[in-house]
Amino acid sequence: MELSCRTILYFIPLLLLFLSSSTETDEADPSSSSSIISRFQQYLRINTAQPSPQYAESADFILSQAKSIALEAQTLDFVEGKPLILLKWPGSDPSLPTILLNSHTDVVAAEHDKWSHHPFGAHLDQHGNIYARGSQDMKCVGTQYLEAIRKLKASGFQPLRSVYLSFVPDEEIGGHDGAEKFVDSDVFKSLNVGILLDEGLASTSENYRAFYAERGPWWLVIKATGQPGHGSRLYDNTAMENLLKSIESVRRFRASQLDLVKAGLKAEGEVVSVNMVFLKAGSPTPTGFVMNVQPSEAQAGFDIRVPPTADPESLERRISEEWAPASRNMTFEFKQKASVRDTYGKPMLTGTDNSNPWWTLLEEAVRKANGKLGKPEIFPAATDARYYRELGLPAIGFSPMANTPILLHDHNEFLNQDEYLKGIDVYVSIIKAYASHVEHTRKEASRDEL
Ligand SMILES: [Zn+2]
Repeated sequence: MELSCRTILYFIPLLLLFLSSSTETDEADPSSSSSIISRFQQYLRINTAQPSPQYAESADFILSQAKSIALEAQTLDFVEGKPLILLKWPGSDPSLPTILLNSHTDVVAAEHDKWSHHPFGAHLDQHGNIYARGSQDMKCVGTQYLEAIRKLKASGFQPLRSVYLSFVPDEEIGGHDGAEKFVDSDVFKSLNVGILLDEGLASTSENYRAFYAERGPWWLVIKATGQPGHGSRLYDNTAMENLLKSIESVRRFRASQLDLVKAGLKAEGEVVSVNMVFLKAGSPTPTGFVMNVQPSEAQAGFDIRVPPTADPESLERRISEEWAPASRNMTFEFKQKASVRDTYGKPMLTGTDNSNPWWTLLEEAVRKANGKLGKPEIFPAATDARYYRELGLPAIGFSPMANTPILLHDHNEFLNQDEYLKGIDVYVSIIKAYASHVEHTRKEASRDEL
């Protein structure tokens, strides 16, 4: 009894020593899950929220990661204080079009008091959920690309095509100083990009979501003018009456589009959405509005989102003939009007059939990584991918997050660590497939037919 007790006492410190040293090895091993998660947390803790993102800190982090996996790196300063980091894993055949993996480094602001954990604390709770602004949109994707390459390098994989990673600023405020300047640059032209991967959305089901196009924003302001008059008089063509007729017409169109979605005939991204975002009319007083005057002007603003599958000319006709007809003393202007056609006049969408080998490769690669892909979708809002599609380049929006609530731009944005780790394996599979892809030349194709 005494002896066994002493033996146990003797072994306890040894056991503790063993346990502590094994944890230390685990932490030091860059390929361990805990190291991978801690690198993700490090990136999330850099506050890159608009309107004053800590871009210098995020650039330092990305460059240090690139160094640790021996990627070539350059910092492009198209606009001072807004670095764009471009990394390269050179392929063995530099003549082939390359792969570009894009992610934005900025995030939207967070209302700290509405969060259960600090939005830049990257808190990991007992369920494995990592809470942080950017955990879904889209710092997860940026570090998943890097982790996938770390794994591929460790496995000895050699890419045939060069793989580029772009970490771009300012996506959340329109990308004008980020992706837009990048695609216009000589550096970008020299990359010879064949396919771009960019952000998608989380999926509440077990199927990942992939996006082949996105809706373009049209921000419309319609203005009505009319005879002013006493508030007691009834007469035709007042500004308010004219505007109300238009609003009613817009409302009917909106309902018809929503009905298509409700009936399951079209997905959200496939219809034209239109929502009234402001109404401006009346003669203000210090305490409210003048109540006995009918104003001579009234305005309404609409956020319209147009899918590239819609006919933009017929929508414009509808606006000028029904929503703001000159015959009713109405005018209109666009605060923004995104094109839904590329520079060649074709609808801005990426093929999702056999005509686009990158789509087929993505489907296969996701399947090989034990993932499932849902039906291809049109992204309901705008992303940086539009700048690449505008050039006629194929671009796929994809963020591997299944069984996850959609929390981008929302309070308590989080991603589960297991889902994050699974996503890395999906990218391992995709990057492997893309970087090894040999396109059939015309000669080979005709030989196949023979
Ligand atoms: Zn995003």
